Amino acid sequence: MPEGPVIYSASLLMPVSGPAIRDGAVLVNEGRISAVGAVSDLEHDVPDAEIRHFSGHTIIPGAVNAHAHLGFRREDAPEGGAFSDWLGTLIQRLPEKVNWTAKAAENSAREAIEAGTTFMAESSPYGECLPQLAQSGMAGTVYAEFFPGDYDGAGPEEISASIIETVRGLREGLPDRVDCQVSVHSPYTVDPESSRLAARRSREIGWRLAMHLSESPEEVEFVQTGTGELANIFGSNDWGGAGLSPVRYAESIELLAPGTIAAHLATEVSEEDIEVLARTGVAAAHCPRSNEYLNCGVSPVPRMMERDVRVGMGTDGLWSSPSMNLFEETLFAVNLHGFDGAAGLELATIGGARALGIGDQTGSLEVGKWADLALVYAVPSDVDPELEMLESATGGGVAATVAGGRLIYNRAGS
Ligand SMILES: [Zn+2]
Repeated sequence: MPEGPVIYSASLLMPVSGPAIRDGAVLVNEGRISAVGAVSDLEHDVPDAEIRHFSGHTIIPGAVNAHAHLGFRREDAPEGGAFSDWLGTLIQRLPEKVNWTAKAAENSAREAIEAGTTFMAESSPYGECLPQLAQSGMAGTVYAEFFPGDYDGAGPEEISASIIETVRGLREGLPDRVDCQVSVHSPYTVDPESSRLAARRSREIGWRLAMHLSESPEEVEFVQTGTGELANIFGSNDWGGAGLSPVRYAESIELLAPGTIAAHLATEVSEEDIEVLARTGVAAAHCPRSNEYLNCGVSPVPRMMERDVRVGMGTDGLWSSPSMNLFEETLFAVNLHGFDGAAGLELATIGGARALGIGDQTGSLEVGKWADLALVYAVPSDVDPELEMLESATGGGVAATVAGGRLIYNRAGS
């Protein structure tokens, strides 16, 4: 049954794509925004619309999480410090993790929604968290990671064909705004030829691609020289030692393209690497809290943005990050890089959408886009209103979340 028009209104509306509107509102028809303006105008123009008014609140675009893992639990996160130790613990605990991954994914998704997230780009082994994302009410993409070691000695042709088939199967019967794509997990877990073929086939079909890239000092060492802790953990992975930076290596095996999002880019990303990122058109997902927890360095995001590399924010998962709150992640980045609030709010919303190639669908409050909104219980002053919004959304201020016009969280009672 088609739903009638709904007006979401609040004391302030910050569309991100334009100036803030006092007593602003969006008109929603069939999940999409059909007008943005003063609530009095919208009410006048569409008198039969259902009105949901949030007094004392501000409407902002929902957060777009450009890189996350849903299937981890906060309470038993491995110790931080060194990436390779953390990864070693993770691998040891994979057998027990199977028992609670689904519940963890449900909880992580819930936490993200309660923090105003409306689009979630998730990566999990063989897309294992897809059911929980699909049921969450958020829109999103699950990037299915594959590990050639699981394929019983099959070659790159068979492995890449198999993961493509797996993803094809997973894409069937999903809600409208949820889909599945391939992730080439990392330069140290997927061999160059399987990486190249999976990426190439994904592009041929018109799918997008995700990967972890230049995340840790250990990865840089493995790719450069084939030595170090990652070579020890993955003793059978003998393709390291390419003599290149991870970014140059990823370019050499054809992973970098406008449809690819590379997560982290935290360790030793040089000016030359940034040049490669800009030239290939690849997008970046910035996860600064995870990078700090695992001692991975600071991604040169301001330099990347100067070169027009598309950047979105990612929380990563609860084993390397304190929360699934993307606004909180963004506030951390704002403080780390000295951004102002406007740059931060853009990164959290339209920046992530552009990085994921869906900037025409979500990320700002504009006519024609999906009605993806967060309602934050605060009305900022005029000094740096966007920064105040990030602070309020970080401090538990999200009172309601609307994805595709549907309230998927509402503790405001409006
Ligand atoms: Zn990750």
